[in-house]
Amino acid sequence: MPFLLRHGQVYYNGDFIRQDLYVSEDGMAAAADANAADAEAIDCTGFHILPGLIDPHVHLREPGHSEKETIASGTAAAAHGGISTVFAMPNLNPVPDSVEHLSAEENIIDRDAVIGTVPVASITRSQQGEAVSDIAALSMHAFLFSDDGVGVQSEEIMEQAMTEVKKHNGAILAHCEDNRQVAAGWRINAGHKAEELGLIGVNNESEASEVRRNIELVRKTGCQLHICHVSAGESIAAIRQAVREGLPVTAEATPHHLLLCEDDIDSDRGCWRMNPPLRSREDQLALIEAIRDGTITMIATDHAPHTRAEKETDLAHALNGIVGLETSFPLIYTELVRPEIITMKQCIELMSTNAEKTFKLKERGYCRSDLSIWDLKEQYRIDPEEFASMGRSTPFAGRSVYGRCVMTIHNGKIAYRRMGK
Ligand SMILES: [Zn+2]
Repeated sequence: MPFLLRHGQVYYNGDFIRQDLYVSEDGMAAAADANAADAEAIDCTGFHILPGLIDPHVHLREPGHSEKETIASGTAAAAHGGISTVFAMPNLNPVPDSVEHLSAEENIIDRDAVIGTVPVASITRSQQGEAVSDIAALSMHAFLFSDDGVGVQSEEIMEQAMTEVKKHNGAILAHCEDNRQVAAGWRINAGHKAEELGLIGVNNESEASEVRRNIELVRKTGCQLHICHVSAGESIAAIRQAVREGLPVTAEATPHHLLLCEDDIDSDRGCWRMNPPLRSREDQLALIEAIRDGTITMIATDHAPHTRAEKETDLAHALNGIVGLETSFPLIYTELVRPEIITMKQCIELMSTNAEKTFKLKERGYCRSDLSIWDLKEQYRIDPEEFASMGRSTPFAGRSVYGRCVMTIHNGKIAYRRMGK
């Protein structure tokens, strides 16, 4: 049944206008006219209606690690957070490095996903960095390639991959990490906190040197490159230069790198372990500047759930990764939009429309007229026990935020609904 969203404040070109919206069963939304009698009316008085959010960096863990998350639980979590499209990272089992392996993932997406789920194929076989995946064949089914979790160490392999991906009009999503710069056994950023806690730290160069190398390879191959979860000021400088030159390079930042830094680590707990780690206060401020000036054009969660046992331990033993799908918009809205560090328009570009444009998602059949509906006045404390995600570890637990998602609409269907309960 189609539905009619009545009396909501609808985001339109940087502003909110009072407008009824008709959403048809085939997923097209339009300003409502008088012939909406066939529709279910939903009262949106006091609510803000935004485009469906797009998260270009999510680990759904299935197939292979369904004790951490599944496509059903991960996409439900996204819908719970107003996110209607995610890019699903390929550190799975099997790794989607061939059409056969990718179809194992696609079958579960078709069966279980409640929102748009874009599978990302691997750059190299088994993400081992030694041989390029069958990009020509995979390109019939996927347009995004990543070895997220590890950097591609060999320049020659990365160049081969970029040349192939460029040929098929795809894009590389690069986790940049130069193993030559990485201290074995690192736990957090190489800085005063690591010294204080007696832990091994990892430096900014481990990220920045591979960012610079990958940008050089874009110059050579012309391949579209998106840099994942930027954390270091030095990386931002290289990206800013590439964007100025007009190279096809974009980048994302996570809410945790934008809103936290190593100074915030107040305990030896696993919720502070992530890759890349929280950096210095200067790096954090440089990231905020980069989303303000358009150097970094997307916010991505790097949602990376693990089991309780894997996270509820100390920094020495915890695995890398925190969850973010259900907190990203409320955190960014509360910490950056309300204090007027960024505008609502910038927020929606960073969390939705820029990803759509950069990766031509509508042309590729995704996104269509997805919507997320918010009660922006509701204030509450983040409680991981309320998450739909199986992952519960976030350093933002207990933090007070504004903005509760009340409904997420994907393809003319309600993917999540809180209203009326
Ligand atoms: Zn990564």
